[in-house]
Amino acid sequence: MKVLNGKEISQSLRDEARDECASYVAKGLRAPGLAVVQAGLDPASAVYVRNKEKACAKASFASFKFELDENVSEREFLELIDKLNHDEKIDGILVQVPLPKQIDEQKVAAALDPWKDVDAFNPVNTGRLLMGLDGFLPCTPYGVMELLKRCNIELKGKNAVVLGRSNIVGKPQALLLLRENATVTICHSKTRDLPGICRKADILVSAMGRAKMIDETYVNPDQIVIDVAINSDENGKLCGDVDYEKVADKVAAITPVPGGVGPMTIGMLLKNTLKAYRRHMKLDQ
Ligand code: NDP
Repeated sequence: MKVLNGKEISQSLRDEARDECASYVAKGLRAPGLAVVQAGLDPASAVYVRNKEKACAKASFASFKFELDENVSEREFLELIDKLNHDEKIDGILVQVPLPKQIDEQKVAAALDPWKDVDAFNPVNTGRLLMGLDGFLPCTPYGVMELLKRCNIELKGKNAVVLGRSNIVGKPQALLLLRENATVTICHSKTRDLPGICRKADILVSAMGRAKMIDETYVNPDQIVIDVAINSDENGKLCGDVDYEKVADKVAAITPVPGGVGPMTIGMLLKNTLKAYRRHMKLDQ
């Protein structure tokens, strides 16, 4: 069994981002700029925002943090987005969800300039993904694809099973696997015989948020298992959807939790911000 080390691959992505940034600065250009917008005091969001800021700082990107009050009105929030859309120093905008209840997430998503939308929150980017057009890909499923690519895992013609159909993970994950010519099955809470479907998978990607649900009855010895989930077990310890102890020795390769898909997400945020920057600065032409 091979452990797919997302932490190590993510570090390579961060190093590459830092080097690319340094090459622009050496030419006298400004550094890429990422705005992170947060409203309210959700403790998990605060940790995610801090990690994103740290990664930006290490890559020498300029990061701009906007911490809005829990009671900020929807109008004020949208005004800030509009301002950031037009700010020349800002290439990417990331809105940390969940947002306070008075703010409609869909309105915020639609208000983001699609070419600054580095977490693919705007439905324009969802549509581009669906149609195979150039745009931004959501960081987590994009991170899974990068992990598979850098581990030289062939996808063409393989049976891929995705557990979960959320807009931020499951659905885009399925589309990205399809784009790489896998034959994709999407499962959800109403799927019948989940273990039977999973056992037939060459690639199993789980994004359900169900602690340790995937045991040895869901896998086969040639399978690649990608665990996207971040859950807590009965002792409050971080775990995925996969019962790692029971499954690891029974598959060909597996991502651990933590240290698998999680670190890839931030790496892809840096990659997307660089893409936004190159487009904004007209460096791609
Ligand atoms: P959602 O709750 O939005 O979606 C969960 C999906 O799993 C739903 O489609 C649901 O089906 C399905 N599901 C739930 N229970 C079962 C079950 N028993 N059998 C089959 N399907 C089931 O979650 P997210 O997509 O937002 O996140 C999924 C997981 O990924 C979470 O653990 C989250 O923490 C993690 N995550 C990790 C990230 C990272 O950076 N590594 C980033 C984002 C999320 P139905 O649609 O029928 O309800």
